[in-house]
Amino acid sequence: MSDSCCCGSKKPLFKGSESIPADAIILFDGKDFSGWVKRSDRNAPAEWKVENGYVEVVPGTGDVCTKELFTDCQVHIEFWLPLMADATGQARANSGVYLQGRYEVQVLDSYGLDSQHNDCGGIYRTKAPLVNACRPPEEWQSYDIFFIAPRFNECGVKIASARISVLHNGVWIHHDLEVHEPTGGQLDDNVSEPGPLMLQDHGNKIRYRNIWARKL
Ligand code: MG
Repeated sequence: MSDSCCCGSKKPLFKGSESIPADAIILFDGKDFSGWVKRSDRNAPAEWKVENGYVEVVPGTGDVCTKELFTDCQVHIEFWLPLMADATGQARANSGVYLQGRYEVQVLDSYGLDSQHNDCGGIYRTKAPLVNACRPPEEWQSYDIFFIAPRFNECGVKIASARISVLHNGVWIHHDLEVHEPTGGQLDDNVSEPGPLMLQDHGNKIRYRNIWARKL
């Protein structure tokens, strides 16, 4: 297939070996986490630990947010869960990916479970994934998330709720799901405003890598 457009100039669809779209905003490339700040003080740099191509939650340092703000967007993110054999339920490798800082796609070790809304891939307090697509702990997993922000009329009245589709490890687990309100633990309730991508510190050493987003 040609990578030239009709005027002959080169216009690559992807950059690098990770098939990252040319219009993607790189939020974490494995080394540079400077685009992230603390939830509790968004003028202060995030304190999570960067090493070996990933960033790891430092428990107690708090949730982290991108400086970049988003409305409609596509997000790619990869995560790795520690094996916590003695922990159960919400204590077992918990974190979360928050769209606009308000809508959480749960991150948890839910391998082999009958998934509920608060299990991995669930939209917290809202909807269980269509299927449990989890890999075991200590394996890299991915989310590809498609987020449509709530819509408001000229008087500021909400006329449409947020909508989310999610692929978990390439498996379609939410299809255009309406999410009527923030899902808990959100940054704020100002749903008409753009918000950051936020990652949750729930006290466990979750790792993340290859984080990028496209504004839609
Ligand atoms: Mg969580």
